[in-house]
Amino acid sequence: MKRLSIFGATGSIGQNTIDLVRRARAEYQVVALTGGANVALLARDAIDLRAEIAVTAFPERLEDLRAALAGSGVKAAAGPAALAEAAAMPADWVMSAIIGAAGLEPGLIALQQGATLALANKESLVTAGPLVMRTVAQHQAQLLPVDSEHSAIFQGLVGERIEDVERITITASGGAFRDWPLDQMAAATPAQAATHPNWDMGQRITIDSASMFNKALEVIETKEFFGVRPDQIEVLVHPESLVHALVGFRDGAQMAHVGTADMRHAIGYALHYPARLPLPVPRLNLAQVGQLNFYAPDPARYPALRLAWDVMEIGGMAGCIFNAAKESALDAFIAGHIGFLDMAQVVEKTLNKLAADRSLIQAEMSLETVKQTDKIARRLAQDFAMPQMTTDKG
Ligand code: NDP
Repeated sequence: MKRLSIFGATGSIGQNTIDLVRRARAEYQVVALTGGANVALLARDAIDLRAEIAVTAFPERLEDLRAALAGSGVKAAAGPAALAEAAAMPADWVMSAIIGAAGLEPGLIALQQGATLALANKESLVTAGPLVMRTVAQHQAQLLPVDSEHSAIFQGLVGERIEDVERITITASGGAFRDWPLDQMAAATPAQAATHPNWDMGQRITIDSASMFNKALEVIETKEFFGVRPDQIEVLVHPESLVHALVGFRDGAQMAHVGTADMRHAIGYALHYPARLPLPVPRLNLAQVGQLNFYAPDPARYPALRLAWDVMEIGGMAGCIFNAAKESALDAFIAGHIGFLDMAQVVEKTLNKLAADRSLIQAEMSLETVKQTDKIARRLAQDFAMPQMTTDKG
């Protein structure tokens, strides 16, 4: 029986993972389920899957979690230390699906136990790619991608040598504002940005898709995961979201991964790897689709994308700064303090200012230095968002 834990169990990826686990529950022993504010859902699933422990990230939610678990035999715990302890509980397979940089530490701890980490939390690799990859190697752990593009690349590389790869193409839907005029995008609301044309995902990643910050994170994730050069990575807008990525080889062949927009494919691939087992995902009928479209992204529409290459060129802690500033700018946008297009400006200013500090950028990468840099970048991004808050309020 496979022992598994799900970090971020109450989110979009977490719930899709639970759907697959529930369908074959006799094969799994659930160790830990973790969530945030939604303790009712966390408790329901923990009881249903007979988890050993349920952990909420937020200490103020512990009493409610305890009450919801009363009499079930499932242990309750709360806070970052409890998340770390849950990550240290022996498990064969761990889903990393917390949103944001908060997902880094539990993932590192799971890798230190030698677990297979199914990585949806792309922020881990953007923030601390070298540290994550070093931890995998040191502990003979395994890292499997769950982002649909990276799962597609991974599958395209089965039986291949990375040195034969010429180019990796990841696709982007173009997000909610793909066809909007730029001036209208400037006035877009969080609710409008949180509507995805093709994928059903959490609010934050959906807004990041509209701005292409999500794609920028994925470009950096591609470099860190597969060890390719930045100039080998390209992004194409593909409005249908059916081709998730292409791997181009030096003989001119390109291997494309094609499938419906259902995250249970990538999650299921990571859950059963290296086997391929039947999955309850809709099958694609290409004759019905008829036509697939691709075009290069417009840099004026998606300034966030260009920043990914700046980050890779700067190196070191630039990814950590970029992600933290992005999370801060996104908070400010969701709170209605800055406009949609201001997010990229806030991030660029933060990155430029901190990139000048060589000792910060080149600091030796450890969990502690990453956390410190993250804090500095968040604070500065908040400062950059402030004047715009004043302007907005007139
Ligand atoms: P959601 O917002 O739907 O879920 C996030 C999860 O993290 C929830 O369980 C939430 O708890 C929990 N959480 C929130 N804040 C914290 C915190 N501070 N500490 C610990 N846990 C917290 O996100 P998604 O499922 O959409 O995304 C999860 C990750 O997967 C992200 O890194 C995203 O980029 C990546 N990803 C997502 C895809 C998708 O289809 N959704 C596709 C590819 C990658 P609660 O809800 O109870 O508050």
